[in-house]
Amino acid sequence: MVRVGDSTMETWRGDITTLEVDAIVNAANSSLLGGGGVDGAIHAAAGPELLEECRALGGCPTGEARITAGYQLPAAHVIHTVGPIYPRLSPERAAELLASCYTNSLDLAAEQGLASVAFSAISTGVYGYPLGEATAIAVATTRAWLEAHPEQRMRVVFCCFDARTLAAYEAELAHAAIN
Ligand code: ADP
Repeated sequence: MVRVGDSTMETWRGDITTLEVDAIVNAANSSLLGGGGVDGAIHAAAGPELLEECRALGGCPTGEARITAGYQLPAAHVIHTVGPIYPRLSPERAAELLASCYTNSLDLAAEQGLASVAFSAISTGVYGYPLGEATAIAVATTRAWLEAHPEQRMRVVFCCFDARTLAAYEAELAHAAIN
């Protein structure tokens, strides 16, 4: 675990749909109507009311975020953010958009008065973002946000579904802790 003022960043390995936090962050697609990977798992666990609320939102552009209730999930809310599809963009533009996903998700969490947020590894699955680069952006952007919002006491969990993702996040947090 890494402390940033009164806030913390930590890793956790497992299925994000089991986490009892104020919000889990879904790697959604721009329709917000569900998909495969973590998005499918979240919709399956939350139940059909989540899809109803998402339908009313009318989609979400890449890099932005929207919040809904968590319905049948142990998490109170779901923050849906749309990561960049890596092979369709320049690496620079993809990096900007991925950073925006983290910043906009944390802004939404703070606006709603939430104190614990668990992120999935946005864009690193079907969307093809190289894991090491995506992890560096996730940790650096989150850290910068926490440093810029010292009044927000936030617990940030990086949810890692597999061993490779966990190893990448642990290396990045170790780096963040000593720098
Ligand atoms: P994207 O389309 O943004 O790439 P994916 O859902 O394909 O999103 O993958 C993002 C990450 O979510 C990957 O690391 C994948 O292994 C992980 N993932 C898949 N299912 C779950 C789950 N139930 N809980 C947490 N993470 C998951």
